[in-house]
Amino acid sequence: MSLKGKTALITGAGRGIGRAIALAFAKEGANIAAIYAGNAQAAQEVCQQAIQLGVQAKAYQCDVSSFDLAKQTVQAVQKDFGGIDILVNNAGITRDGLVYTMKEADFNAVLDTNLKGAFHFIKHCYPIFVKKRAGKIINISSVSGLMGNGGQANYAASKAGLIGLTKSVARELAGRGICCNAIAPGFIETDMTAAIDKEDNPLAGLIPLRRMGKPEEVAQLAVFLAGSGSDYITGEVIRVDGGLAM
Ligand code: NAD
Repeated sequence: MSLKGKTALITGAGRGIGRAIALAFAKEGANIAAIYAGNAQAAQEVCQQAIQLGVQAKAYQCDVSSFDLAKQTVQAVQKDFGGIDILVNNAGITRDGLVYTMKEADFNAVLDTNLKGAFHFIKHCYPIFVKKRAGKIINISSVSGLMGNGGQANYAASKAGLIGLTKSVARELAGRGICCNAIAPGFIETDMTAAIDKEDNPLAGLIPLRRMGKPEEVAQLAVFLAGSGSDYITGEVIRVDGGLAM
């Protein structure tokens, strides 16, 4: 078990990619602090499944876009688990539309959740990691942040911003033995992409591996980036996209 005894804080852990990461980490022996926005039942179910895998797990409600709530949540996790070793900034939203019609509120909401949310948790975990001279930070970006995507200017800007944040934090913290990397998923089967027709999907033609990815396939990379096998990797952005953005 590559993460035995570690504590992982994962935002947006109630469903989709965050849920898959939480359960994959638990399988590797990590204790789970599952951060959720509104669906307490889903987050509790993830925790129950993690506990059945033999680890400790607890759900915390927190809107990641709030600096103060993120601070309180990190403090609560630190108190309950006695430390934090791994931070996964996974919570994210879309508010798609052409720039021509995009409302300022939709631009702000996406930046506040996807980019500032990650900043908040990095900021509040920073002293914990620095004190231990250890830590793994994983930010869930997107191929939209690498390629841009018409109709997703807000989302792509937030995900490109996450890459700049990742590389800057990696440079700041490398001297303390702390690694910060980003994962850029392509089209993954979750609620976020539920509207995309999987049987007759024109996007599949653009994906060299000719299918959408599964949350578990993103989670496997997160396990690697959270463990000691990736200790010499920092500031990296790794795609899990079936070759879409190569
Ligand atoms: P999802 O919608 O199933 O999950 C997103 C999670 O984030 C949910 O649990 C939601 O409650 C949580 N969340 C949203 N706003 C929040 C807030 N303010 N505070 C706390 N939690 C909040 O989607 P997913 O596909 O599992 O997405 C996970 C991450 O992966 C996101 O950052 C997304 O942008 C990214 N991503 C997904 C895909 C994809 O194809 N599904 C592709 C690239 C990147």
